[in-house]
Amino acid sequence: MERRLETVAVHGGGVRCGAYDALTMPIVMSSTFTFPDTTAVREFVARNAAGDRPERYDYGRYGNPTQTAAERALAALDNGDRALLFASGMAAITTTLLTLLSAGDHLILVGGVYRRTREFARAHLPRFGIDVTESSAEGLAVAIRPATRAVLIEVPTNPYLRVADVEAIARLARQRGLATVVDATFSTPVNLRPLDLGVDIVLHSATKYIGGHNDLLAGAVIGPASRLAAIEEARGVFGAVASPLDAYLVLRGVKTLPLRVRAQNEHAGRLAAFLEAHPAVARVHYPGLRSHPDHAVASRLMSGFGGVVSFELTGGLDAASTVIDRLTIPAVGPTFGGTESVVQQQALFISPDPVERAASGISDGLIRYAVGLESVEDLIDDLRSALCGLPEGRESE
Ligand SMILES: *Cc1c(COP(=O)(O)O)cnc(C)c1O
Repeated sequence: MERRLETVAVHGGGVRCGAYDALTMPIVMSSTFTFPDTTAVREFVARNAAGDRPERYDYGRYGNPTQTAAERALAALDNGDRALLFASGMAAITTTLLTLLSAGDHLILVGGVYRRTREFARAHLPRFGIDVTESSAEGLAVAIRPATRAVLIEVPTNPYLRVADVEAIARLARQRGLATVVDATFSTPVNLRPLDLGVDIVLHSATKYIGGHNDLLAGAVIGPASRLAAIEEARGVFGAVASPLDAYLVLRGVKTLPLRVRAQNEHAGRLAAFLEAHPAVARVHYPGLRSHPDHAVASRLMSGFGGVVSFELTGGLDAASTVIDRLTIPAVGPTFGGTESVVQQQALFISPDPVERAASGISDGLIRYAVGLESVEDLIDDLRSALCGLPEGRESE
């Protein structure tokens, strides 16, 4: 029987046979797992060598039962064969890229990608003889070379929430023999299931919506078992595994993921509509708005538009800082996807130099508002007060 997302989220970990018949998966805090005798060791090694994954563990860097339960749940949510859990989103991304690519290969980053992913690709991959270029979604066909092995894309992007047609990109990449890797941290499996659109590998920073409570760091890779086997092997060698406690928190987060993300979709949509109608706001970036350049693509591919809204103030850098300082509910910081609302003025993190900021493509007056699970009426009241008396005027286009 086909189960719906809420059921998969609660039961996808699939374990109700833990110690003491516990209803929830225990946190198995053991670095090492033992064997009753040498026959069991021989059997374990033989099954591993045959690629037949035994339900037995030996050493924590290669996995533990709590991690397996979280991985099962993540694989089920994204409709993948398998999932691998990592110590952070960056660990998932770096381990995946270092496994997929070798010296002489070429990687294409499509659209804007997470700052540290870009840094890893531009500053570190070339040290291993891997060439990296960036391309727009429209320019991808031209950017592909004979040495191109993979295409990495984020949906939606940060902070302008652009939504590329990943289905078309995956089709093109498949025709040209490339792997498509999608960082779907912003969309979550509730709003987008890239594997169903022909994408090969999905990545998540589980630190954001999947964990969902601003209390853990973790990352995930989901895809076909044939592709994940090598990444799993590399994880065991590179060593960036999630701890059993973090694996438990991920599993716990997953259970409420559909409820949380749907509430955040709704709240962000209402916040975006409020902001778009406000005279001190020059521009709102939210794929759920008709004014967003990717509204049509997002409506076709996604079942929700996400919990992050970016907006630009007419008054620029200082007006944005004033609004952030006046807001009383959201915290000021760099994350999103949790129960607490968080705001960030990205320009401030880039550079104190206006020229460098302008070159970054991030507008000085831009605020990224990541809605949490507070009352959306309270969030809007708080914003209305914070925007009071600021310079007004629409962006002239
Ligand atoms: C946060 C983030 C990452 C990195 O994840 P960590 O868990 O912080 O290592 C990667 N991609 C995107 C889109 C992110 O937002």
